[in-house]
Amino acid sequence: MAKHKKQFAIIGLGRFGSSVAKFLSEMGYEVLAIDDNAERVQDLVNVVTHAVSADSTDEEAMRALGIRNFDVVVVAIGENIQASILTTLILKDLGVGKIIVKAQNELHGKVLNKIGADKVVFPERDMGLRVAHHLISPNIMEHIELSSDYSIVEMTAPSAMRGKNLRQLDIRAKYQCNVLAVKRDGEMNISFPADEPLCRDDVLVIVGRNEQLTRLEQVYA
Ligand code: ADP
Repeated sequence: MAKHKKQFAIIGLGRFGSSVAKFLSEMGYEVLAIDDNAERVQDLVNVVTHAVSADSTDEEAMRALGIRNFDVVVVAIGENIQASILTTLILKDLGVGKIIVKAQNELHGKVLNKIGADKVVFPERDMGLRVAHHLISPNIMEHIELSSDYSIVEMTAPSAMRGKNLRQLDIRAKYQCNVLAVKRDGEMNISFPADEPLCRDDVLVIVGRNEQLTRLEQVYA
């Protein structure tokens, strides 16, 4: 039996919602894009499977669109916190399986969690953190928070690491962080030899506690 391909609905077609919708469509998924602003809907008509103009705080309108049949609904309403909360409540009531909501701030996020959003995302905050990490240590290419305590960073081998191997650097003992992989010439090596000297442009993928990663970033900044 053919595997059911996930179907997505995206509500709110601002910068965040429209890029989620476009990417999913490019990846070949069926996407219903919804916004109460007809111009925003028009911009996506030729990109996604269906684009409709509707107010997501209107329960009947959401029911008529068959919103509960979608596997995942993303609520990407930015400024209007009230509309975002009401929409989430309605989707919950209608029995949507998985609801992902973009939060404007921590308090908004708390409310969304309380009313049953399955996942709350903070794109501006997360991107701000990434940029800040990169500013503190330009070697940090990527910073992904795994939880409030742990992260994964991608770090270009700083000059102080070059010519040394992982055994000599002893990052695990010194910083209680683990080097998961080394990216060299675009190839990810998840079992990089401990005695292989690091070169310029090598990228280390490191997991650890946030404070230990920060210490590592500062020492090698
Ligand atoms: P971003 O910060 O991602 O650009 P915006 O706040 O600019 O987000 O965009 C949010 C979108 O959500 C807007 O296009 C707006 O028209 C839409 N929107 C707001 N309220 C509703 C609603 N009740 N129903 C449908 N769409 C809505």
